Amino acid sequence: MSLPGHPFLHQRDDQLWLEGHALADLARQFGTPLYAYSRQAMRAAAAGYQRALAGRPHLVCYAMKANSSLAVLQTFAEAGCGFDIVSGGELLRVLAAGGRADRIVFSGVGKTPQEMRLALDAGVRCFNVESEPELQALSDVASAMGRRAPISLRVNPDVDAGTHPYISTGLKGNKFGVAHDRALEVYRRAQALPGIDVHGIDCHIGSQITSASPYLDALDRLLDLVESLAAHGIDLRHIDLGGGLGITYTDEEPPSAEELVRQMLARIDARGHGHREVLVEPGRSMVGNAGVLLTQALYLKPGESKNFCIVDAAMNDLMRPAMYQAWMRIEPCLRRAGPTETWDVVGPVCESGDWLGRDRAFAVQQGDYLAVLSAGAYGMTMASNYNTRPRAAEVMVDGDTVHLIRERETAQSLFAGERLIG
Ligand SMILES: *Cc1c(COP(=O)(O)O)cnc(C)c1O
Repeated sequence: MSLPGHPFLHQRDDQLWLEGHALADLARQFGTPLYAYSRQAMRAAAAGYQRALAGRPHLVCYAMKANSSLAVLQTFAEAGCGFDIVSGGELLRVLAAGGRADRIVFSGVGKTPQEMRLALDAGVRCFNVESEPELQALSDVASAMGRRAPISLRVNPDVDAGTHPYISTGLKGNKFGVAHDRALEVYRRAQALPGIDVHGIDCHIGSQITSASPYLDALDRLLDLVESLAAHGIDLRHIDLGGGLGITYTDEEPPSAEELVRQMLARIDARGHGHREVLVEPGRSMVGNAGVLLTQALYLKPGESKNFCIVDAAMNDLMRPAMYQAWMRIEPCLRRAGPTETWDVVGPVCESGDWLGRDRAFAVQQGDYLAVLSAGAYGMTMASNYNTRPRAAEVMVDGDTVHLIRERETAQSLFAGERLIG
C-alpha cells in the first residue's frame, strides 16, 4: 500500500519500500545517514507538468536549488526539462549533468557580473531580472561582450501565498522582484537599453503553496501587465508562472501539478494569451516526495518529561525542521510489534535546535533504521558540515536497480583546503 502523497513509497510486510527496495536494506548496504530517491517518482512529477502543458509551446524549468545532485539533474534533462538556476555554480552543474544552456532561466536577486558573463557565454535562455540596477548591470555586461541579454522581469504581484514567512516571496516588503506598479516603467527602460532583449515576464510568489487561488490572483495581475505592455508596443513572448506548488508532508492536500497548471492555462486562454509560450519553475513538487533520509537510532534516552531517540542524522543533514520548524513524517523502516512510545527524534549536533521530529509515536529499538519522509527537496542542498560532519551519501533507485549517485564525504576532505599558519 502506498503512503498518502507518496506513490512510490510502500508499506509491505511491516517494511517500507521505495520502488522495489526495502529501505532498511538500502541503509545497511550504503550506511547512514543516507538520502534515497526514486527515479520513477521524479519522472512522474515531470510528466505531470508536461502533460498539462502539451500542445502549446512550453518549458518546464526544474528549480534545481531543491535538489541539485547531478543524477537528479540528469534525470530531468533526459525527461526534456530545462532548469531554473540561481547561481553560476548551478549553471556549471546543469552543464556537467548534460543539461542544455538554452533551456536555462537564471533567477536570483544578486547575480554578479561574473555570473552574468558565464551565463551569456553559455547561452542561457533567459535572465529573470529582479531589480533596476541589475537590469543596468546586465545591459553593461552584455554590451561589453557585444551581446544582448534575453530577459524577463520578475514582477512582485503583491499576493499572499499563505505560506511560511521565510518562503513567501510575492508580497510587498520582501526582497524579490520588481514592484507591480513600477513594472511598466522598468520594461520601457529595458526596451531602450542596448544590451537587453525583452522576452518575457515572470513571478514566483512563494513555496509550499497548497491551493490554486494565490496562483490565479498572481496570474491575473501578471496578465494585466502583459496587456498594458502590449498597449505600449511591448509584446512578450513568454509568461513564466514560477514554482512553489506544495507537497503532502502531513495532511496537506495541494492540487496536483496537472490540475494547477490546467487552471492557470484556462485563465491564460480565456484572456486571449494562449499563443504565448508558458514556462514553469517547479522545485519541491518535482523531488520532495521522491526522497527519504534514512538514519539509524544510536541511543534511546527515556526521560521524565521527554523520551529522546538519538539518531545519526542531524540538522546539518536536514535543516528544514530546525530552520522552519517544519514537520516531516518519520517512520521506522521496519515496523516492530509491541507498545509504541512517544519520542523526540534528535541528532548528535550540539544545539538544542537539532531535532528532526518531536512527539512521534512508534516502537523503536537501538540500532533500528528510521526514514524521514518528503526529504527529496531542500534536504541535501541545504546540508552543511557543521560539527565537521561529512555530508550523507545519496542513492537513486530505479525499478530493481540502485545507483550510488554521491559518495559519502570524508572528514579529511572537509579540511583539505585549509592551511596552518607559518
Ligand atoms: C525556489 C524557487 C522556485 C522553486 O520553488 P519551489 O517551492 O521549490 O517549487 C522557483 N522559482 C524561483 C525563482 C525560486 O527562487
